[in-house]
Amino acid sequence: MLPRGPNLRPRPALPPTRRYAIDPALTQRRRPVTAALADTGLLYALAHRPKYLRMFLELYGDTVSVATAVEEEIRAVANVPRNHRPQRNLVLMGACADRLVTELDNQTITVREPSEASADLVFPIQQQLRELERAAAQRRPEKWFPHDADRAKRHAGETDSILVATDIIKAGGTAILLTNDGGASLTAWQQGVSARNLRHILAELACARTDLKEEDLLTAYHEMTAHFGTPPADVHPADSSAFRCRATLAGECRICDALAR
Ligand SMILES: [Zn+2]
Repeated sequence: MLPRGPNLRPRPALPPTRRYAIDPALTQRRRPVTAALADTGLLYALAHRPKYLRMFLELYGDTVSVATAVEEEIRAVANVPRNHRPQRNLVLMGACADRLVTELDNQTITVREPSEASADLVFPIQQQLRELERAAAQRRPEKWFPHDADRAKRHAGETDSILVATDIIKAGGTAILLTNDGGASLTAWQQGVSARNLRHILAELACARTDLKEEDLLTAYHEMTAHFGTPPADVHPADSSAFRCRATLAGECRICDALAR
């Protein structure tokens, strides 16, 4: 049976300068969903600090999901033999992939496949992901290569994650995309799916647990986003207050329940 939750379908209008689609209806405190579809970059960032990966998996419980394409991407990196990783610049990422494969194997992370009915959305979603990435590249002094195997793989994971989320919402459930990628968040928004990033997840942890210091969460955020899964600059917290639970009474988060960030 699907758990009840808020209707997460966002309204379509977003400020045009936004690099990351933040749903104003989602509060600091985590709201339960049927499924939270995590993409590769966000999972690698969390796995870079295993303590936070564990806390995240505990907080989201059996709603933590990945699309089939994301699972394949993680397993492909984990399958690179350790002695071949240095020359392919996969030492850090490989260690993260190994940790995530453990969670896939013990089914802490559920793998979900997009429905056949969602196939019509593949082309528009991939086209939008490509366009947003091209626009982002043009804002930086960087060369744009129209054919890029890494990007195509990443887009396959993001596309499948958005498809699974729309399947769940169409079936009457609630689903969010967990991604640090601004383009993926904006594309998901167009399809009626809200996105959350690492900053949101760490702030949710601050509300859910009393053993975390906001300064430590800020440090962890910067450490986890230094190598991969780096969100757009407008997501970066100015200071540790981004990770402050404003609960005034034990167990109550009235202010966090009202504040969208
Ligand atoms: Zn709180």
